[in-house]
Amino acid sequence: MPFELPELPYAKDALEPNIDAKTMEIHHGKHHAGYTSKLNSAIEGTDLDGKTIENILINLDMSNTAVRNNGGGYYNHRLFWEVMSPSGGGEPSGELANAINDAYGNFESFKDKFSAAAGGQFGSGWAWLCVHEGGKVEVCSTPNQDNPIMPGVGCGGTPILGLDVWEHAYYLNYQNRRPDYVNAFFNVINWEKVASLYAQNK
Ligand code: MN
Repeated sequence: MPFELPELPYAKDALEPNIDAKTMEIHHGKHHAGYTSKLNSAIEGTDLDGKTIENILINLDMSNTAVRNNGGGYYNHRLFWEVMSPSGGGEPSGELANAINDAYGNFESFKDKFSAAAGGQFGSGWAWLCVHEGGKVEVCSTPNQDNPIMPGVGCGGTPILGLDVWEHAYYLNYQNRRPDYVNAFFNVINWEKVASLYAQNK
């Protein structure tokens, strides 16, 4: 079964004004679609065919650049759409909030740390909040389409929140103002979804 481009869980204009409809249309319909089809081409007829994307990435041969780049792109964007919502924003609650407070003191300090990871990633890449076995959370960033479930990448653990800081994710609306885009992302984070991913992966 080839991988399929997942539907967006909301309309393309649903995250405006934080993320504009044109960016969503191109980002999902062109970029994510491209990673998906190139991933399928890269694994077709190999022993990776039929495995889950998690299994492929956890056991990835990092020298396999086609699967590294396109498998990462497929997985990363799938998470990215899910952790945003037009009714998002605010702060997490419950055990996720406790884990963030344990790691970073309070939500504002976490936001500063995450924003610094996103702003400080030179060139293209992602900022992550990951959960380790046992429930500890950690912020990191990774280049290109790498992510922390790949061997030896970033802070390790399982990503439960990801922010795309490739220019294709924000340049139409924000041009070079990546910090404004990062701030806007916090207005649409679906903390209920992030909390459920935390609970599933801690
Ligand atoms: Mn992207």
